[in-house]
Amino acid sequence: MRFEDQRQLLIQSLQKSGISDPAVLRAFAAIPREEYVAPDLKNYAYRNQPLPLSERQTISQPLMIAIMMQYAELTSDDVVLEIGTGSGYQAALLAGIVKEVCTVERIESLSLKAQKLLKEQGFRNIYFRIGDGWNGWEKAYPPYKEFSRIIVTAGASEIPEKLLAQLADNGVLIIPVGAEGYQILTRVVRHGSELSVTHHGACTFVPLVKS
Ligand code: SAH
Repeated sequence: MRFEDQRQLLIQSLQKSGISDPAVLRAFAAIPREEYVAPDLKNYAYRNQPLPLSERQTISQPLMIAIMMQYAELTSDDVVLEIGTGSGYQAALLAGIVKEVCTVERIESLSLKAQKLLKEQGFRNIYFRIGDGWNGWEKAYPPYKEFSRIIVTAGASEIPEKLLAQLADNGVLIIPVGAEGYQILTRVVRHGSELSVTHHGACTFVPLVKS
């Protein structure tokens, strides 16, 4: 079956699983996941499962990405911080919806590969940093101090303080929190100095490594 048709089937399965945000569904329809997986795994690109990248990392399961993006309630005004660039797939999905995406990855080889690919795919609103996501965005350019949305794509032992400090008023942080191999998808909304925290089920991500 052509990749395009497989992509349509994946979107139908996301809809059956409760994904209804039109912007999220449009993003999945627009981005060719087969470009972001290893060449020998292209035929598996549209299975609703995580797939291995190099360096023992994974490209997340499409449904889990979609759930995170739906809980983030993204709009075209948002400036998003993504922690864990990995393949660049989720950065691409986000970049089609929001104004700008800043993405941080600790493994240099993965970041460089994603930078090259996303440039080739024509994205101009994604900024990259190789570094420790526990610190959030520390780069001089673009000089963002706060983000309206923050999405962490690795499992954290706790919510990083610096990410809370970089979350704008009315901003939303989506992060898997828990032990290695078992986390709870957690949503934090800032209302001034108050944070409201809700929990949205179990999930499994590769660890957000502490250096
Ligand atoms: N969003 C990615 C999924 C990547 S998996 C995609 O769409 O493909 C999680 C990524 O988080 C891995 O690439 C891993 O190297 C990275 N990571 C883990 N700990 C990190 C940290 N402390 N800082 C930055 N990136 C980290």
